[in-house]
Amino acid sequence: MKELDILEFPDARLRKKASKVKKISSDIEKLAGDMAYTMYSNDGIGLAATQVNQHKRMIVMDTSENRDDLYIMLNPSIINRTGKTRTSEACLSVPGMRIPVTRAELIVVEYTDINGVEVKQEFDDIDSYCVQHEMDHLDGKLIIDFITN
Ligand code: ZN
Repeated sequence: MKELDILEFPDARLRKKASKVKKISSDIEKLAGDMAYTMYSNDGIGLAATQVNQHKRMIVMDTSENRDDLYIMLNPSIINRTGKTRTSEACLSVPGMRIPVTRAELIVVEYTDINGVEVKQEFDDIDSYCVQHEMDHLDGKLIIDFITN
C-alpha cells in the first residue's frame, strides 16, 4: 500500500463528479487499500476517492479511537435522513480550517463493500457526519461551500 497525494482546495479536480464503480477489479481493490493507508497516514477519519484524484464513487472511513474499524464503501447512497444537527468539520483537502456545517443526524446508507456484498446500514453521530462529508466530495462539494449559507 502506498500513500497517495491529496488534492487541496482550490484544485479544480476536487469539483469533478465521481462515476459509479461498475466492477470490483484489482485496480479498485488496490485503490481502496491505498486510500485507507493514506487516510491513516494523515490522521483522517474519512477519505473520498475524489480527494486522491480518482473519480470513482468510493469512500473509506474509520472514526474509531483504536483505528481498527475500517469501512470501505463503493457507490454509497443515502436512502433515509432523520434529524438535523450542527457539526464542526475539518477536511484533509481544506487544511487548517474547521467549518460549521448542518447535517442530518441519522442516515441509512446503501453501499457495496469491497467483497461485493450489498450492505444497508444505519449511521449516527460522527459516522453519520463523516459519510455525508465524504459523499459530498464524490459530487464535487467541499465544506468551504457551506460558508456562504
Ligand atoms: Zn473532506
